[in-house]
Amino acid sequence: MMQAESLDVLVVGAGPAGSSAARAAARGGARVLVVEKRRQVGLPVQCAEFVPQQLIHLLQVPPRCIAQQIRQMRTVLPDGRIIDKPVRGCVLDRALFDRHLAVLARQAGAELRVGWTAIECNAGEVLLRRGHQEARVQAQVIVGADGPHSTVAQWVGQSQTDFVHGAEVEVVLPEPREYTEVYFDPLYRGGYGWLFPKGETANVGVAVNVRTGGRPGAALDQLCDRLGLPPAAVVGHLGGPVPVGGPVACLRDGNVLLVGDAAGLAHPITGGGIAPAVISGQLAGQAVAQAIAGRRPGCAGSLSTRVGSDDGRPPAPGTGQPALPGRALERRPSRPECCRRRDLDRIPGLWLAETGHINYKGATMESPQHVQISMAAAKGP
Ligand SMILES: Cc1cc2nc3c(=O)[nH]c(=O)nc-3n(C[C@H](O)[C@H](O)[C@H](O)COP(=O)(O)OP(=O)(O)OC[C@H]3O[C@@H](n4cnc5c(N)ncnc54)[C@H](O)[C@@H]3O)c2cc1C
Repeated sequence: MMQAESLDVLVVGAGPAGSSAARAAARGGARVLVVEKRRQVGLPVQCAEFVPQQLIHLLQVPPRCIAQQIRQMRTVLPDGRIIDKPVRGCVLDRALFDRHLAVLARQAGAELRVGWTAIECNAGEVLLRRGHQEARVQAQVIVGADGPHSTVAQWVGQSQTDFVHGAEVEVVLPEPREYTEVYFDPLYRGGYGWLFPKGETANVGVAVNVRTGGRPGAALDQLCDRLGLPPAAVVGHLGGPVPVGGPVACLRDGNVLLVGDAAGLAHPITGGGIAPAVISGQLAGQAVAQAIAGRRPGCAGSLSTRVGSDDGRPPAPGTGQPALPGRALERRPSRPECCRRRDLDRIPGLWLAETGHINYKGATMESPQHVQISMAAAKGP
């Protein structure tokens, strides 16, 4: 039996959450290994790639990772009403962005192994596999940054079940478009349709709730027809699940932390998950580095008290404990609020409220503004 490699932190997944966690932990002096099951970080892209402007600075997105600047958003409601409002943001080049974050993690000292999948965890040892090769790793802390169908979340009984399913094409545009477009329609029930321009092409997609009979493929065909975009304009297909059930009940279990989509941090109404992934990753990485430093000989403190309370919630204010990913959630929509998505007709109204807009069909929400929350979380107490 091969001997397990011993390290401080194992990060599973090199998406925005994993690379951000790895970078922060490595910067704080921890020995970090990131394993990524794909053979290339960031590919294939499974995202519509929009990020609001406030987050561009926060995430320190380099200009080369930005495909197009956006100044306006058009929302088309099911009754045909069109609402235009100034919304500044960017459509990213997600493949470049993810790779950029992985490079930063490496430069901070983290080791990255691509093509390796985390398979199982037995008595604290994680089995990794690449083809016929196997390796075992024993880490003081495991960060689960492995996306919506997280294997690590399964290990700690935090799998998510509430998703909408995205289907998207990248299409060549007949002419450049300056604003993002969002469509609500009975066919996209439980989600919405979008056109996010990126220069000569655009991401056109739908996210629908398949449990209530939504059919992503049919809805996407309908949206492309509606927008006058023929199949011959398609240069790529993609898709994937977006968690919409809100944060998992427990962000930490023993020495396992969950971040990003693995923790259910994508916004339950808009589906935006890039910023929460980066922020929760950073917070987790910082907390873990401090915990590990405190455990080394000559330093005070123990991992369990520093990483957080046993129920996975953030530590009480004033305890002097490091920031946790949980802090990012303190003022996010609560789980019951997210679950009101069951009333699917309210989603356009929730969307408008969430993007700081009007009421729709009486659906009001005392909406914490997602961006402000994320900013507040990043600034810390
Ligand atoms: C169709 C669609 C459109 C979207 N549009 C937007 C948008 O416009 N704006 C926005 O903000 N968000 C959007 N999102 C959400 C956003 O893409 C996610 O919230 C974000 O990628 C979450 O980052 P993450 O690092 O948590 O997870 P991911 O980006 O999913 O990264 C997880 C990584 O873990 C790896 N992995 C998984 N399992 C294992 C394993 N066992 N071992 C090793 N590696 C593993 C995966 O290969 C992956 O690279 C969209 C999502 C979808 C599906």
